[in-house]
Order: sequence, then C-alpha cells, then structure tokens
Amino acid sequence: MKILLICLLMAFSFQTSVSARNILPLSAHHKELAIVIDDLGNDMKGTEEILSLPVTLTIAVMPFLPTTRADAEKAHQKGHEVIVHLPMEPISGKASWLGPGAITTSLSDVEIRKRVEQALEEVPYAVGVNHHMGSKATADKRVMRIVLEICKEKGLFYLDSKTTGKSVIPKLAKELGVPYLENELFFDDVYTIRHIGKQARLLSKELESDESTIAIGHVGVTGIKVATMLKEFLPLYEKKASIVPLSDLIPEYHLIDESMP
Ligand SMILES: [Zn+2]
Repeated sequence: MKILLICLLMAFSFQTSVSARNILPLSAHHKELAIVIDDLGNDMKGTEEILSLPVTLTIAVMPFLPTTRADAEKAHQKGHEVIVHLPMEPISGKASWLGPGAITTSLSDVEIRKRVEQALEEVPYAVGVNHHMGSKATADKRVMRIVLEICKEKGLFYLDSKTTGKSVIPKLAKELGVPYLENELFFDDVYTIRHIGKQARLLSKELESDESTIAIGHVGVTGIKVATMLKEFLPLYEKKASIVPLSDLIPEYHLIDESMP
C-alpha cells in the first residue's frame, strides 16, 4: 500500500500545475468551487474573454458547430477542463436553438447512440458531458439510458444542469455507476447585469456554507457580462474556496484517471 502511494505521488508530481493541486492533502482544499461556462463552439460573444480568465474553468463545448474544435483546443491550451455540451430536446423552444445533431425523443435507439458518439468525437479533450436545453429529453428514461451508458463506456462524468424538475439522470446515473454532479446556480438565467450581479453575490454567500459548489454561466448574449462579473468576483471567490475543474468534485476521478499508464 505504501509503495503504491509513493508511486502515485511520484506520478502526480509530473502532472501540470492544474492537476498539481490534487496532491494537496484534502484539508488544504477547504471549500471548492467549479465554474462551468456553457454554449461554446459557435464563435459566441465573450468566448475570448471567458477563456482568458486567470482560473481553471470547465468549458462546455457544443458539437458540430464552426468553432467546436477550435474552442475545445483553445480551452485545453489555456488549462481549462473541457466537457461536451450535448444539444437535447426541450419541452418548448425553437428547433434552431438546439443546433445540429440534437438528441430528440423521436429518434431511434441506434440514431441516439450514433449522434452521441459522433458528438463526443467532435469535442477533443472532453472528460464529461452536460446538456444544452434538454427539458424534454432529460426526463425520458429510454433516451437518457443510452446517453449515460455511453458515458459509462467512455469513462465520462455527467453534469445535470437541471433544466427540468423531472430529470431521470440522478436515478439512472446511480444505477449505471456514472459519476454525476448537479449545478446549484445559474449566473445568467436572466440576462441583465443586475441579475448577474445578484447571482454572483449569492454564490459568494453560498461559499460560506457549502463544501462544494457548481455555478454555470454562458457565452453568447450574456458572455461579456459574465466575463466582466467573474473578473470582478474571482478574487473574492478565491479567498473563500479553491476554484477547481468540475472533475475535482468527483472524489475518485483523478485517482482513476491519472494513475493509468
Ligand atoms: Zn446551452
């Protein structure tokens, strides 16, 4: 056991600075905050500003779009974590909001599997999945079982951004043994600076009580506002918590991942 531990520690010491914090004893972490930014991949407003922020973010990139690959690569180069932002059918909304390759409840099992596997191939460096929209599809057991089975096969975790109260993801992820996380707060569910500021202050308050917190923002309409707000609030957040990639909130994830040859 001791030898194994020493080997692991040696392996860790060769990791990049982003991963290096994982060798800190747990007590040094205090509280953890993961900030996820959705909707990259389509040259959306605020992309550059978000990717240039001086902390490790988790960047959710949509597949099959003009800057899908470029955004994922840039995010990775800048030390951020990358996940796939899978477009999934909402109860209401325009089909055009979903983008290409969307997962809808009318598709066959074979077609869902094909689209999810293609989406994963489209986004380099992805270590997890969350969904874009999805209030209808994430309440559908048949659809989500296929999506989560693929996550299991590929060793990916799933972040449920809870776009519906009827999500079947927690139950299915548990059943299939897929690491699963839920977000607690959206910065920009209302597009105004006033609301984004209010959510930013609310997050600061939550950091005083919660051990680990996940917050989501977007590029696009609110991209610049979210980047500006984060620039202002990050020093405050960093006083209260370590800002970590999403996978750091999964206890076994880095141990499994980084001890692989
Ligand atoms: Zn989205």
